Amino acid sequence: MRSLTLKLTLTFLAVSLAGVALVALIIGFTTSTAFNQFLLERGQSDFATAAAAYYQQNGSWDGVAEALAQQGLAVVNSVDNNPGANQGNNPGGPRNGNTNGGPPALFALADQKGVVVVRGGPYNIGDTVPSAVLSQGAAVTVNGQQVGTVLSTGGAPRPDPSSTRFLSQADQALLIAGLVAAALALGLGIILARSVTRPVRDLTAAAHAMAEGQLGQQLPVRSRDEIGQLTAAFNRMSADLQHSNELRRQMTADIAHDLRTPLAVITGYLEGLRDGVLKPTPQRYDVLFNESRHLQRLVEDLRTLSLADSGELAIHPVPESPADLLKRLAQAFQGQADSQKVTLALQVEDGLPSIEVDPERIEQVLANLVSNALRYTPAGGEIRLVGRREPSAVVMEVQDTGAGIDPSALPHIFERFYRADESRQDDGSGLGLAIAKSVVELHGASLTAQSPGPGKGSTFTILFRL
Ligand code: ADP
Repeated sequence: MRSLTLKLTLTFLAVSLAGVALVALIIGFTTSTAFNQFLLERGQSDFATAAAAYYQQNGSWDGVAEALAQQGLAVVNSVDNNPGANQGNNPGGPRNGNTNGGPPALFALADQKGVVVVRGGPYNIGDTVPSAVLSQGAAVTVNGQQVGTVLSTGGAPRPDPSSTRFLSQADQALLIAGLVAAALALGLGIILARSVTRPVRDLTAAAHAMAEGQLGQQLPVRSRDEIGQLTAAFNRMSADLQHSNELRRQMTADIAHDLRTPLAVITGYLEGLRDGVLKPTPQRYDVLFNESRHLQRLVEDLRTLSLADSGELAIHPVPESPADLLKRLAQAFQGQADSQKVTLALQVEDGLPSIEVDPERIEQVLANLVSNALRYTPAGGEIRLVGRREPSAVVMEVQDTGAGIDPSALPHIFERFYRADESRQDDGSGLGLAIAKSVVELHGASLTAQSPGPGKGSTFTILFRL
């Protein structure tokens, strides 16, 4: 059985059939028990009424067995102890004898003293019935006086034809109800099974499409149950896969592009020098040297990123003072800031707690942020290195009053090879912030950027939770 729909439908059907069968069984049993009880009570009442009428008429029980037998309520027969018994007199109706081939008698009758006067079951004429048994029988009362007791013999009543018809009609109704319930269960089971398996079929089709290279499959989430959650997770996975596939393709193109420019310059210069078209001057060697340095940096950045991606970028955290880190940074960049006529200010709160960092790696990150700030801040601007405390965190910030970042570019600046201004390609690899973010996150910290807009400066924030 390869279809989930078929399996579910058959399961629903099996469960409902079992339920219907059980209900039919219980109802059938209860109905026949209740009906037997009803027949027994009716028979007992008829027997008692007839017995009372006889007593009222005759003033004694003499001959009662024959009289009741004539009404079809009792039986007299050859083995009866009663010498006056009317042998085999049993004209139809519910019999009350058991030695002449009929069903067992249902009732016996005892007189006021508890002596059996109409036989039936274990009670024979002349037997004295214990008072404990008498108390369970039904009293026969004449003029307010108990004159006898009807005793139940424990026999099963034999239903008359109308009762049998009633019972078989009830059985038929039960059978029809059962069949209708089973048909309904089958119909509903098919609908339910199809609706349950539909999202699974959609998921299978989408997974096949993805396997064939059509990434980015999205399916409607129709419910909030487990299948809805599975669909939502599939949609997320599919979108992520498509995004990372696009990033990978874009990155390969970017790497090729970034390698081509310096390689073209180097090749062109080397050809000219080899053919004697260009004279080897110190300036030309400088160009060659700078281009190969650029290539070296690019390769180094790519290596760092791939190590970070594979989780192999090792960090060796030690307790470090944020104030010392920022001071060393300010000293390192003071000269460059002065020469660009940019103010470099240090603003560190007193008593900042130490943080667990790999000093070399974090210095690289901060240096990257400051050199970006210097690159995008014109003369007369200011770069501020801030160290401050936040509730349960230490924050280090590099703020500048420079070019700022367009809100549309802001979400992308940490992506690999992203440059807000494509024309400034020679300045950097476009990998600096991607590496910085990976390294900061390796420390369990976060790196974010804010900018009020172009021309309004930017702030890069590293937040270390304590
Ligand atoms: P790049 O090597 O191009 O600087 P980064 O990853 O360091 O690459 O930065 C990505 C982009 O983020 C930059 O191209 C620039 O557009 C933007 N950016 C980074 N720092 C700043 C800053 N301080 N001010 C304005 N823009 C910035």
